[in-house]
Amino acid sequence: DAEVVLVGRSNVGKSTLMRELTGHTFDTGQRPGVTRSPNHFDWAGPDFVLTDLPGFGFMEGVPEDVREQTKTDIVRYIEGNAEKILAAVLVVDGKAAVDIIDRHSGPDEVPYDVEMFHFLRDVDVPVVVAVNKMDKVDDRDERLDELCDRLGLYPPWKQWQNTIAPISAKRGSIEPMTDAVRHHLHEAERDDL
Ligand code: GDP
Repeated sequence: DAEVVLVGRSNVGKSTLMRELTGHTFDTGQRPGVTRSPNHFDWAGPDFVLTDLPGFGFMEGVPEDVREQTKTDIVRYIEGNAEKILAAVLVVDGKAAVDIIDRHSGPDEVPYDVEMFHFLRDVDVPVVVAVNKMDKVDDRDERLDELCDRLGLYPPWKQWQNTIAPISAKRGSIEPMTDAVRHHLHEAERDDL
């Protein structure tokens, strides 16, 4: 089956978004860092599967090697299934993402979100960055432009509407994301003709 994968650091609102998308309840209180297998759900009709990959990022009490293993598992899964993965949704926290990226940028450090964004592009999986928790963000355009900049996309963000999707999963306003994903699914269909 054609697949859409969901990736993102811990606590960005992945479970909340999954619940919004599928109507299922997810254990938002799940202990972070516990390695779990990808979860598959029907989405947007029976022909698509939505795959929730384990959250990643700083997790209190989780040893470095377990975190690395989680990341390796995610990358392997995507590489191994790249053919059928038609789009990826990279969920970030709109309020915190730029600061986290800047804090983790250095001579020998690439922030997870940036790394994942480029990795997905390298394996030819179209990426939608679901910029979540926008209900907490006041300087919306500025924040989104900054995020574009960090991801190597020329601002203004508005010219990247198929890539940058500001949402609030908690409030159920996720249309920019679903629209962007649908766009990529249609593109993939067209390429098959
Ligand atoms: P996960 O670890 O990525 O699965 O994140 P969760 O879905 O468990 O959400 C983490 C926290 O962020 C919870 O307290 C959620 O209520 C909160 N959250 C999720 N989405 C939003 C949102 O759109 N806006 C706000 N303000 N909070 C959110």
